[in-house]
Amino acid sequence: MYIHFPWCRKLCPYCDFAVMVAHHEPPHEAYRDAVVAELAARAAAVEGRRLRSIYLGGGTPGLWRPDCVGDVVAAVLAAAAAPGPDALEITIEVNPTDVTAARLAAWRDAGVNRVSIGVQSFDAAELAALGRDHWAGDGPRAVELALAAGLRSVSADLIAGTPAGLVAAPSSSPPSSSVAAARGAPAASIAALIATGVPHASVYELTIEPRTRFGKLARRGALVPRPDDELAALYEANHRALEAAGLEHYEISSYARPGHRAVHNSLYWSGAEYLGLGAGAASFERRADGGACRPPRPPPGPTGGGPRPPRPDEVVELGADEVAVDRVWLALRTRDGAALAEVAALPGAARLRARLAAEGLAEEVDGRLRPTLRGFLFNDRLARHVVDAADPAGYNRPPTS
Ligand code: SF4
Repeated sequence: MYIHFPWCRKLCPYCDFAVMVAHHEPPHEAYRDAVVAELAARAAAVEGRRLRSIYLGGGTPGLWRPDCVGDVVAAVLAAAAAPGPDALEITIEVNPTDVTAARLAAWRDAGVNRVSIGVQSFDAAELAALGRDHWAGDGPRAVELALAAGLRSVSADLIAGTPAGLVAAPSSSPPSSSVAAARGAPAASIAALIATGVPHASVYELTIEPRTRFGKLARRGALVPRPDDELAALYEANHRALEAAGLEHYEISSYARPGHRAVHNSLYWSGAEYLGLGAGAASFERRADGGACRPPRPPPGPTGGGPRPPRPDEVVELGADEVAVDRVWLALRTRDGAALAEVAALPGAARLRARLAAEGLAEEVDGRLRPTLRGFLFNDRLARHVVDAADPAGYNRPPTS
């Protein structure tokens, strides 16, 4: 179950998510009521379903009053077949400045057992370049408080590859990720992240999205993304440092100590069904014939009244063959990879397996096709091969040149 809370304190210059800036207080109760009403309207999608995860994402759901978070969690638990609390992960995304001991206790009372903190960097110059609204000391303080709060797990997000031109670090500062990359060293923030002892981390490469302020700067030439080879060196250096510290690299951007893999994201990568509630949430429903459906979320917006049924032309239907392809490329985002039996069922499986092996993108181990580190690094290419393999007319045709 995914619950989207769209408000943020400010819009980060690289952010392309569905967010709204809350200049004052977000409409706590109105939004709670809208989400609970949407849940009631879609009750058939959750009744009797075994719930494994509730994920409050954003936006910044850390801004939502904890009693409203608790009301929404309670409504979901009443509607679905929830397992015992030990088997249910309930995550809230927060920013470092949202994290206080009192708020952690209130989130825990609301049922939350995992927080994901948008630290993004431990480096003051990078944080300023990224337009974040917190200081370098806020991230480690938030992680420390969260680790002391008795939650099941804590995660920290980092952004790697901030363009050098955006980072005006004084010479006495630790090296920014860009400078470190040139030396084949991990980002400066990786050592600081490891030092916190956080058991889960997501390290994302900064993506310059066209519709953002960074996108506009890039079009004007005022922001130049890092060269690909430098980003690749940084990715590999971050991988080596985090794995050496005992954090398993279990998905393209995700690292975890044993027992701390993210249940919620792992469900996405395994092709599990999910229901999304709130302003920008998507859903995924399996069909008895092996196909699936991605119903759009029903407008109007979060505070604009009750949902309406989606129009037929708004519903994305996937056939069983498309679902099979999606399952394989999603699984190949993870270190566990895809079962060879599932891969073998794709129309172009033999050529696909040979091509992935030849390009060093995946290897076959213990009955599974697993991405290599190179396969993580070039995962778009790997996924493209999987999708193309399902088009025998195109993919299996001998190359013409
Ligand atoms: S806090 Fe997160 S969701 Fe909000 S604007 Fe910044 S990057 Fe986007």
